[in-house]
Amino acid sequence: MKRRSFLKLTGAAAIGPGWMPQAATASPDVIVVGAGAFGGWTAFYLREMGARVTLLDAYGPGNSRASSGGETRLLRADYGERELYTKLALRAFPLWHRWQREWGVQLLVPTGRLLMTTPEGVPMLRERQARLAKYDFITEVLSRDELERRWPQINLEDIGGGIYDTASGTLKSREACRAVAEQFQKRGGEIRIAHAHPGAASGGEMAGLKLSNGDTLRAALYVFACGPWLRKVFPGLLGRRLRTPRRDVFFFGTPAGDDRFSFPRLPDWGFAGPSENADFSRWYGFPSIDERGLKVCPTLEGNEIDPDTDERIVNPYQSKRTRDYVSWRFPALRNQPIVESRVCQVEDSIDGNFIATPHPEMKNVWIAGGGSGHGFKHGPAFGQYLANRLLGRGGDPEFDRAFTLKEETF
Ligand SMILES: Cc1cc2nc3c(=O)[nH]c(=O)nc-3n(C[C@H](O)[C@H](O)[C@H](O)COP(=O)(O)OP(=O)(O)OC[C@H]3O[C@@H](n4cnc5c(N)ncnc54)[C@H](O)[C@@H]3O)c2cc1C
Repeated sequence: MKRRSFLKLTGAAAIGPGWMPQAATASPDVIVVGAGAFGGWTAFYLREMGARVTLLDAYGPGNSRASSGGETRLLRADYGERELYTKLALRAFPLWHRWQREWGVQLLVPTGRLLMTTPEGVPMLRERQARLAKYDFITEVLSRDELERRWPQINLEDIGGGIYDTASGTLKSREACRAVAEQFQKRGGEIRIAHAHPGAASGGEMAGLKLSNGDTLRAALYVFACGPWLRKVFPGLLGRRLRTPRRDVFFFGTPAGDDRFSFPRLPDWGFAGPSENADFSRWYGFPSIDERGLKVCPTLEGNEIDPDTDERIVNPYQSKRTRDYVSWRFPALRNQPIVESRVCQVEDSIDGNFIATPHPEMKNVWIAGGGSGHGFKHGPAFGQYLANRLLGRGGDPEFDRAFTLKEETF
C-alpha cells in the first residue's frame, strides 16, 4: 500500500494524542529505529497487533554500545514513592514470565532482591512494604540480626535492616534483546542493520528516513527508540533534554570453591538512605550468574559518553574505588581479581520519566526513550503500551502524562 493511501485510510495524517485509525483491519506501516529494550519490544508488540513493521538498528539488538547491552539488569517492583513505575513494572513481571515460557528461553533468573538501609532508615522499610502490599506484592522486612543469619558474607556494620522479596530477579539483557528480535522476525517483522537519519520535514511530517547506505525508507509512522543516541538524532529538540552519564560495571571473581557470592546463595543487593555517607545508596549489584563473578555497579560517575565513539575501558579511579568498596562490603572478596568489566551509559531525562510522545513538529514521528537508568525491566510493558497508542487503541492517561517531553532542559 502506498504511504499516502495508508495515511488516508487510517487517519494517520492527524496523528497525535487524538489519532485513531479507522479500522483495526488496516495494516499500518511502521519503522522502528533502535532494537534496544524500548524499540525491540515496541516493534514486537506492533507486529503482534498486526502491523507491518521494519526494525532498524545501527549495530544490532543488544549491542555492546547500547544501554540494553551487557549481561544483566534488575527486575524490581519497589520504586518507593514513584508508584507509577511500580504499576508499570507489575505489568512487565507477568510478561517476562509469559514470554520466557512461550519462547523456551531463560530471560529472568529468580535471584530475589535485598534492599538494605541504615538504622535511621528502618521505618522507611515498613513504608515501602505497605506501598507494595497495596499491589499484592509480598516482601519481608528483616532485622539486622536476620540479615546476618541469612547472608553472613555481607559486612552489615552500617546496616539497620532490609526489605527482601523473592519475585524480583535478574534479566538477561543482551540475550533478551536478541530473543525479542528473533521472535519479532519469526512473526514476519523485518530487521535491518542500518544507521538512520531523520529526513526533512515537509508539511508537518517527516518525508522519509535516510540510511547510511544511501537508501531512503518511507513509512506511515516512524518511532525513534534510539536510547542514548536520541540527543544526536534530534540535537535541537533533545540535546539538552537528555544526559548520558557513563557507568563503569565490574565483575569480581569469587574465591575458589566458594559459592556464597553466586546465585542462588546471594540475591540482587542494593541500599537506600538516609545516611551521612553521601555514597551509601550509590552501590548495587548482582550475585555471580553464569559464573561471571559478583557484579558491582557504582553510580558515582557523571561524565557523559558519546555512545558511538567512546572507548569502553573502565576508569582506573573507578576500579580502585570499587575494589575498596567490595573489600569492605564483602570481606571474603578482598583479594579477588576483577574478571570482567563493562562501560555503559544511561540516558537520563530531566525528571527521570520515560519519553513516549509524538515529535512536536513532525506528526508521523514518535520518540521513545529516556530510560533514566531503570528502563530495561519495563521493556515489554512499555512496548505493549506504546504499540497500543501508536495503533490508536488508547493509552493510559497516567502514563501518557508522565511520558511527555518536558519544557525544562539540563
Ligand atoms: C549500567 C546500567 C545499568 C542499568 N541497570 C538497570 C536495571 O538494573 N534495571 C533496569 O530496568 N534498567 C537498567 N538500566 C537502564 C536500561 O538498561 C535502559 O533504560 C534501557 O536499556 C534503554 O533501552 P533503549 O531501548 O531506550 O536504548 P538502547 O538499548 O541504547 O537501544 C537503542 C538502540 O538504538 C540503536 N540506534 C541508535 N541510533 C540509531 C540510528 N540513528 N539508527 C539506527 N539505530 C540506532 C542503537 O544501536 C541501540 O541498539 C541500566 C542501564 C545501564 C547503562
